[in-house]
Amino acid sequence: MAAYDLSTASTSHAPNTLFLRLEGPLQAWGDHRSKFIVRRTAKAPTKSGVIGILCAALGVPRSEVAKIAQLASLRMAARLDAPGFLWSDYNTVGAKRAMPTAEGKPKGKTMLTYREYLCDASFLVALQGDPALIAELAEAVQKPKWTLYLGRKSCPPSRPIFESYPSKTSESSSSPSEYSESPPSKPLESSKPLEYPQSSSYSYSNCSYSNPAYYPDLLSAITAIPWRPRLEKDPPPKTITCLLDRDQESQPLAQESTLHESPPPELVLPQTEPSASAAEPSAEQNWPEETEEIWYDVPITFDPPAHLPRIVIRKILTVGDNGQIKIDKKPSQSLPQPPPRPRANYTNSEYKKRRKERLKYDYNLCVFCKAPATTVQHITYSRAGGHEAIDDLRSLCRLCHDAVTMIEYGLGMGLDRINPEEERWRQEIIKKRAEIIKFRSLSTRRRRLAPEEV
Ligand SMILES: [Zn+2]
Repeated sequence: MAAYDLSTASTSHAPNTLFLRLEGPLQAWGDHRSKFIVRRTAKAPTKSGVIGILCAALGVPRSEVAKIAQLASLRMAARLDAPGFLWSDYNTVGAKRAMPTAEGKPKGKTMLTYREYLCDASFLVALQGDPALIAELAEAVQKPKWTLYLGRKSCPPSRPIFESYPSKTSESSSSPSEYSESPPSKPLESSKPLEYPQSSSYSYSNCSYSNPAYYPDLLSAITAIPWRPRLEKDPPPKTITCLLDRDQESQPLAQESTLHESPPPELVLPQTEPSASAAEPSAEQNWPEETEEIWYDVPITFDPPAHLPRIVIRKILTVGDNGQIKIDKKPSQSLPQPPPRPRANYTNSEYKKRRKERLKYDYNLCVFCKAPATTVQHITYSRAGGHEAIDDLRSLCRLCHDAVTMIEYGLGMGLDRINPEEERWRQEIIKKRAEIIKFRSLSTRRRRLAPEEV
């Protein structure tokens, strides 16, 4: 085995942590919102997606619920070494095959569906759990039974997903069997470590490590492996984001200091961007070093897909000159400011076009109460300002729009806004509508009174 030269790694314990490198031209990590016409991707690997990869490596079919439960018990951390950028493509459904109408007549129209992808992203994933399971998985991901892909079948990984990292001096001093840089189909003994690109301005630390290895906790594991460039010209980032399963034992449910202004947990939307955190800090405040989020991605079954929530801690980590990852105890000046938030631009011609399309799509009716629609609601601002997709908007009547907007003000929401079609907002919208009607009738009465009567 390779020498451990990291202080946090230990040879006296059985390896409890497996590292995966999820890297490729395209990745797609669909969450619970990824369905029907628009299939979204989360901005980081989901637990269900990673467990899906492990099942494929093991050759475990969807029906083996007990194995899925065992894998779901692993604790996961994902480091966004290169966050990538969003891209979307469309798929046709029903081409040349007539879809039946309600009357049973064939309808030849092809349906367009949209898929989101993350391009050129690189994620380091650490999985921690029972050493016997970790050993089984380490073997499986190096010799997978089925094809592995990054969330969707159209997303092959661009390198073996078993994380390995040959040091510059390793070729002569250590046996090639430490690495698994060759395709898994070839025997490991014949493999040669790949040369990693090095830019002239950046030299990553000369560090070897074992995979799997023992680490006392997820944070020490995910920070033990240095950042390295994926492509030669990749500039080293100052900070990187890391998403960790919250340690159930050692941390309280919600620290009052950090979650004070947040809505109750059931109102926290699953979010993938710091800008979407419930309480937006003012310019004077430091961006919080740590925020909590709920991801609905712990698989119970894959067929049909069903998920449980998990609480994820988002941490900002500092990257040193040599790629070493540092954990800042206190937020520093160098921590990133929240990215500028996309704002709606109601005069933008692209937006106007999309708005018209959405109204037509909804038959000019409010999606909530079916009254004539006069406006559209942004259910997400992630593409606001002229890049909206038709699925980002919902037609609403004036009353429902006012109700939804008033509820949103109270919640201090981020990019993702209220979708009036969702069941969980129903009662609240009905209540707010009633309040607005009452207030309006009151102010109308006041206006009709003569000045001397007021
Ligand atoms: Zn309405």
